[in-house]
Amino acid sequence: MKDMYEVLVIGAGPAGSIAAKIAAENGLDVLLIEKRQEIGDPVRCAEGVNKEYLKKHVEIDKSWICADLKGSCIYSPDGTKIEMAEEIAGGEVGYVLERKVFDRALAEQAAKAGAEVRVKTRATGLIIEDDFVKGARLMHLGKEYDVRARIVIGADGVESKVGRWAGIDTSLKPIDIETCVQYLIAGADINQEYCEFYIGSETAPGGYIWIFPKGEGKANVGIGILGSKMGKFKPRPVDYLNSFIEKRFPDASIVEMVFGGVPVSGSIEKTSVNGLMLVGDAARQSDPITGGGILNAMNAGKMAGEAAYEAISAGDVSLGKLEEVYEKRWRETLGHDIDMSLIVKNCFINLTDDNLNSLAHSLKDVKFERMSLLDLLQALFKANKKLLWDLRVLF
Ligand code: FAD
Repeated sequence: MKDMYEVLVIGAGPAGSIAAKIAAENGLDVLLIEKRQEIGDPVRCAEGVNKEYLKKHVEIDKSWICADLKGSCIYSPDGTKIEMAEEIAGGEVGYVLERKVFDRALAEQAAKAGAEVRVKTRATGLIIEDDFVKGARLMHLGKEYDVRARIVIGADGVESKVGRWAGIDTSLKPIDIETCVQYLIAGADINQEYCEFYIGSETAPGGYIWIFPKGEGKANVGIGILGSKMGKFKPRPVDYLNSFIEKRFPDASIVEMVFGGVPVSGSIEKTSVNGLMLVGDAARQSDPITGGGILNAMNAGKMAGEAAYEAISAGDVSLGKLEEVYEKRWRETLGHDIDMSLIVKNCFINLTDDNLNSLAHSLKDVKFERMSLLDLLQALFKANKKLLWDLRVLF
C-alpha cells in the first residue's frame, strides 16, 4: 500500500471531501481517509442548506435532496409566527439533504478527481518532525501504519483530535457548544414546504427547536441547547424535545435518533501550523447563531484544497505560507461572517422571552419581499433600542 502523498486529508465529511477534490483537481497526489466504514453514516445533522450557496460549491443532484422548501416559519415564545420566503430566510433554509447520499457523493467526486479514498481508516496521531507536520499514523482493521504527506488537512469534525495533536487550541467552553438531539420522525402530518423554528426559555434555552421536512410524512425534529444553559438539575435537551414531540406530533414514530454537538464559538485563534491546516467543524467554522456548518465546511475545504496546491507548488508549506494562502483568506471572507454572527448570538442569548415576543410582534406584519440579514436585524431591533445599540457594529 502506498505510504507517501502530497496531501493527506483526515475525515470525509463535506470539508474533507471538497478539500481532497480541489487538491486532486489541481493535480496533487491526495489520500482522503475516513474512520467510519460508510461515508456519511450515521448522520449527525438536520441536513438543511441554503440553495444558492450550495449551488456555488456543487452541481445539484436531485438524488440527495429530500425537500425543496419555500421558506421558514419562526415561532416566538408566545406562539407569534413570522413567515419568511426561502430567498429571505437564507441560512440553513432551502434544501433538506439526505446526507448519507450527499456526503458519499462528495467523496466519490474527490475519487473521480483522482484522490485515493480509504474508509475504516482512522488517524491515531500525527508525524511531527523538526516542528513540521509530516503525515499521520493510521489504523485500519487493527493494523497501524504511517502515511507521509507534504500537507495534512484536518477535517475530522466537531470532536477533532488533529488540531489538538498539532498543538492548536480547539477546546470549547460550555457557552461555545450547542448540545443537540434530533429524531427522524415518520407518519406525521408535516407541512413539507416550510421548515419551522421554535424559540424561548421554556422550549429551548439559548437555542431552538427545528422541524426540517424530509418528504413523505417524515421530518428531522431536533433541539440545540447552549451548554452554558444546561445544568445537573435542569431538564436535558432530550426532555425538552420529548415534551415538544408529545404535544406537536403525538402519533409520529421515531425511526432514528441523533446526538451531537455543534461548535458555536466563532473563529478560533489559529487554524494552521507548519504542514497542517484545519477545516470545517474541526476549525470551529460553523455559524454561531444557527449552528449550520455544511456550507462553511465546504467553503473552507475549497480554500484549503487551493491553498495546499499553492503552498506545495511554491515548495513552502510553512506556517507563514499557510497563513498567507489559507488562514488570511478564510478569515477575511468566511471568518468575517462568523464573527458577525457571534455578535448577534451573544446578544440573542441574553434576550428574555418578553424581548423575543416583542421582537416577533414588531416583525409579524412586515412584508418581507427582499431583505438581507442586516435589513431583517434592523427591523427587528427597531423595536428595542438597547439591542440595536449592542449590535451597532453590524450596521
Ligand atoms: P463532519 O461532517 O463531522 O465530518 C468529519 C468526518 O471526519 C466524519 O466523517 C468523521 O467520521 C471523520 N473523522 C473523525 N475523526 C477521524 C479520524 N481520527 N480519522 C479519520 N476520520 C475521522 N449544519 C448545517 O449546515 N445545517 C444543518 O441543518 C445542521 N444541522 C445539524 C444538526 C445536528 C444535530 C448537528 C450535530 C449538526 C448540524 N449541523 C448542521 C452541522 C453540520 O453537521 C456540520 O457543521 C458539518 O457536518 C461539518 O462538516 P465537516 O466536514 O467539518 O465535519
